[in-house]
Amino acid sequence: MNIKEIDKQYIANTYARFDLQLTEGKGSIVKDETGKEYIDLGTGIAVNSFGIGDADWKNAVVAQLDKIQHTSNLYYSGPCAELAKALCERTGLKKVFFSNSGAEANETAIKAARKYGELKKGKEYYTIVTLKNSFHGRTITTLSATGQDVFHAHFTPMTEGFVHATANDISELEALVKAYKCCGVMLELVQGEGGVMPLDKEYVKQVAALAEKEDLLLVVDEVQTGNGRTGTLYAFEQYGIEPDVVTTAKGLGGGLPIGATMLGEKVENLFTPGLNGSTFGGNPVCAAGALSVLNRIDDKLLDEVKQKSEYIFTQLQGAEGVKSVTGLGLMIGIECEKDAGEVIAACMKRGVLVIKAKNKLRLLPALNIPFGQLETAINIVKEELRK
Ligand SMILES: *Cc1c(COP(=O)(O)O)cnc(C)c1O
Repeated sequence: MNIKEIDKQYIANTYARFDLQLTEGKGSIVKDETGKEYIDLGTGIAVNSFGIGDADWKNAVVAQLDKIQHTSNLYYSGPCAELAKALCERTGLKKVFFSNSGAEANETAIKAARKYGELKKGKEYYTIVTLKNSFHGRTITTLSATGQDVFHAHFTPMTEGFVHATANDISELEALVKAYKCCGVMLELVQGEGGVMPLDKEYVKQVAALAEKEDLLLVVDEVQTGNGRTGTLYAFEQYGIEPDVVTTAKGLGGGLPIGATMLGEKVENLFTPGLNGSTFGGNPVCAAGALSVLNRIDDKLLDEVKQKSEYIFTQLQGAEGVKSVTGLGLMIGIECEKDAGEVIAACMKRGVLVIKAKNKLRLLPALNIPFGQLETAINIVKEELRK
């Protein structure tokens, strides 16, 4: 049996995989088992922030691997302490809880909001408002938070305590906050899985003001938008708000699993020993890799992200076969006239990997993709959108 057959026989059938096996790569170039090369505009869903086998990242990971690969949270460990310090210094948030994925980072944020509600208003204040068309993860509780009914089917009863508001409609949010005993609001600033839809800046400011007025915890899910992806270290910087909790994962680890829940002033002392935990959370190898990723995201790199973003928007906005281009930084959705699946398959044939979000193409190239490779890939995407 070849790998595809073994996969089909032995791996749970939860993924509709592309007919492609990736075996190795360098930077933004990945290869399949036949040696064919592709320019990668998907980065493992915004995970490989600096592409494949980035030298700095690899050195940091290997150096840590040579020392100790895991300690558990029973002991102090350097890499996660250093990473937490760097995250706090660069965001203004105060403390970090580490886990292993975006869903887990959000689970901790939800725990924080509920405990905050209990502390400030009483146990019955546990409802969290999230947005329709959002995506917050695959655990039962983060699925409950996810405002898309398709994800809830077959798994009911969902965790109670979530209500969903229409994005960019502040009066609906206000009505829900009045109708339910709420402890928090949780949102993505660019709805990634929902089709790469950035929220209106004015709306986000109104949400933040409402959260302040009603003493609700403002939780921003930056699992996908974080870590330089949108042109700033975190997307909230561009929205002029100061969230109480910021979650991230995906690109932070540069290819290794890590989740982080960053806690602001209001909740920095909310957790006490035993209230939360994770066996792998803050694993030294993942943390060392993440610290190297974070250290690479400086103003120069972020300027390049913005320039590449502008280039993509300029090339594709109004191009033949393109209905709309949405997104922020290097997180871009393309609504096309042709079927997105067909465009993706055609691009793959021509050596460009693009992924999907809803019925759109989604581009999530490495933050450091060389400009020439980006140009080649975008030209191919553009041609396939047109044909
Ligand atoms: C991917 C994603 C998640 C879930 O992350 P996992 O690491 O798959 O658990 C949560 N929120 C957002 C916004 C995401 O994009």
